[in-house]
Amino acid sequence: MAKLWAVAVTDALKADGLRIAELDTSGLPGFTGDKLSGTALLAERVLVLSDLQEKLYANGRSGDRRSVLLVLQGMDTAGKGGIVRHVIGSVDPQGVDHAAFGVPTAEEKRHHYLWRIREALPRAGQLGVFDRSHYEDVLVVRVHNLVSRTVWESRYDEINAFERELADEGITLVKVALFVSLDEQKRRLAARLERPNKYWKFTPADLDERAFWPAYHEAYQAMLDRTCTEHAPWYVVPADRKWFARLAVTELLIDALGRLDLDWPPPKFDVEEQQRRLTQL
Ligand code: AMP
Ligand code: MG
Repeated sequence: MAKLWAVAVTDALKADGLRIAELDTSGLPGFTGDKLSGTALLAERVLVLSDLQEKLYANGRSGDRRSVLLVLQGMDTAGKGGIVRHVIGSVDPQGVDHAAFGVPTAEEKRHHYLWRIREALPRAGQLGVFDRSHYEDVLVVRVHNLVSRTVWESRYDEINAFERELADEGITLVKVALFVSLDEQKRRLAARLERPNKYWKFTPADLDERAFWPAYHEAYQAMLDRTCTEHAPWYVVPADRKWFARLAVTELLIDALGRLDLDWPPPKFDVEEQQRRLTQL
């Protein structure tokens, strides 16, 4: 297939200096193809992702401690679930550690906000995926004043230190913020109210949250400005076009896994000897 990315995906999507207010949520940064070629490319690239993930898993079984963690943040209907289903869903499920974070349970509330996050970190060799994350504690929590300003203010540095620790332990973080427009969100919410098989995705409170859109944008901007670090950068993905968001996340994961420079682990036995034994059985 012809080259469809004009620049490296990590450069096209990196959050450095990005202003959310100026983001075109229907844009295709760095991509020169259209929906047809993008969808065809996605079908090819998930196979590459799957192969890399299997190498990560195989190495994990052979003692390599490393893992990769995809952190997905985005407003309701931004497409987090679709990425889990269509991108993560294309790799071997036994190699995936998936966690979704909702309103903290009674038990979670008794602990520090990072407690439930630590509990869900990917094991060695796993591809972890967080559908929402510790960032909710500087997003919804900030927007709705669920804790005092002094408390959420201190969390940005705390999160940076936490992620530094994870990186040192061998967890490669791929942080993705998905953005849809207010209009696109309206269309997607309407779709959830149109069919019985979509009702389960709808929560009446999602409509109330629309009134807080500017406050969320402010909180998302602060998150990008203060927690986009060398060891755990943010990538911003315009998500009005689902196929693009899925392709972009696939490419970001391929990049992250590629940087681990994985190979198939060497056998811990003499291959020829085992072949000889087998022929004699
Ligand atoms: P969903 O992802 O649609 O299942 O919704 C999960 C809900 O949990 C969202 O409305 C989040 O804002 C909310 N949520 C996640 N983490 C927190 C948190 N730490 N504090 C309060 N609400 C949260
Ligand atoms: Mg929801």
